[in-house]
Amino acid sequence: MTNYWKLHAPSVDGRAASNQMKSDNEEMIAAAASLLRHGQTVAFPTETVYGLGADATNSAAVNLIFTAKGRPSDNPLIVHIAEPSQLEGLVSTAAVTPMVQRLMDTFWPGPLTIVLPAVAERLSPLVTAGLSTVGIRIPDHPVALQLLRAAKCPVAAPSANSSGKPSPTLASHVREDLDGRIGGLLDGGQTGVGLESTVIECKNGDIYILRPGGVTGEQLEEALPQARIHAPQHEMISQADRPRSPGIKYTHYAPQGRMQLIEGNSHEQIALWIQQDLNAAKARGETTGILTFDEYEPLYQADLVISCGKLAYPQSIAHGLYAALRRFDEASISYILAETCPEEGIGHAIMNRLRKAAGNQLVRI
Ligand code: AMP
Ligand code: MG
Repeated sequence: MTNYWKLHAPSVDGRAASNQMKSDNEEMIAAAASLLRHGQTVAFPTETVYGLGADATNSAAVNLIFTAKGRPSDNPLIVHIAEPSQLEGLVSTAAVTPMVQRLMDTFWPGPLTIVLPAVAERLSPLVTAGLSTVGIRIPDHPVALQLLRAAKCPVAAPSANSSGKPSPTLASHVREDLDGRIGGLLDGGQTGVGLESTVIECKNGDIYILRPGGVTGEQLEEALPQARIHAPQHEMISQADRPRSPGIKYTHYAPQGRMQLIEGNSHEQIALWIQQDLNAAKARGETTGILTFDEYEPLYQADLVISCGKLAYPQSIAHGLYAALRRFDEASISYILAETCPEEGIGHAIMNRLRKAAGNQLVRI
């Protein structure tokens, strides 16, 4: 059985939560922390997506994450801590160069995972999947931080979905995928960014973005104007069999139906092509879906027309993308066409996830 705790929202109708509500929340978070300390798994909200946590120093506990999610064992887990002092004993102190320090000072707490050389003895080897490095971050979410402080251990936490499903941005998504398979679930409402953290590695003064996410390349550049920043290559992502970040070789976030991305220079032509192709798919017996943006939603007719957000406000797309992808499966859509957004700022991470969802199927018209 999965323990379920529904937390009070931090503010109700614009008023701050009462002391009673705060102490209720503290009690629920303490109960969840106790489960973590006793080697169980707990799903919790972060500012990116819901995470499925376990004590990173306990292999039996970490193994429960892999079995609950059906996650391949060669895909390492990100370790979450509450404060920088917890790095001691997890990573080699020499690895915290002035550059790494500056990144931590600027982006922690926040959606930036930094891959650092691991100190082997302390962490379960399952966390690093046999690599000599470990990805670490401090999440920027009051519930996650309270839980990590109360657990008093580093917490390994991938996204709290079944492997191959979109990451959960609501507690109901976690329940759909993992109810009965995990120890507990802290329901803290909808998550913030809606996409996972940016994963980076620093080498010889260069920053390698292993996975685009909540912190954009532009923000990294601004924090470290001297550093050379290497963006991930799409081709490398799809073809490499031993990529630097093992997770990127898996087709995550794929809806069950066949999905293709459509891009081109003229939106008029794109919309026309999409509608004709959807009509043809419908005629051959497919259930059809289109993933688009608020601005274009009225243009389309399909069995399911979904907007994931406003093109003019890319943060809203990041926020709504995973919930939108889940709806295609709920409606058993077999054929999905999706529009693309400009690859600027958070748009890099959005397009990275859209490519994965579509298994790299892209039509340029
Ligand atoms: P998830 O926790 O599901 O958001 O996925 C974590 C991502 O971080 C995956 O793409 C992993 O491959 C990547 N990652 C975690 N630890 C490391 C590491 N030590 N080195 C490189 N990539 C890592
Ligand atoms: Mg994940």
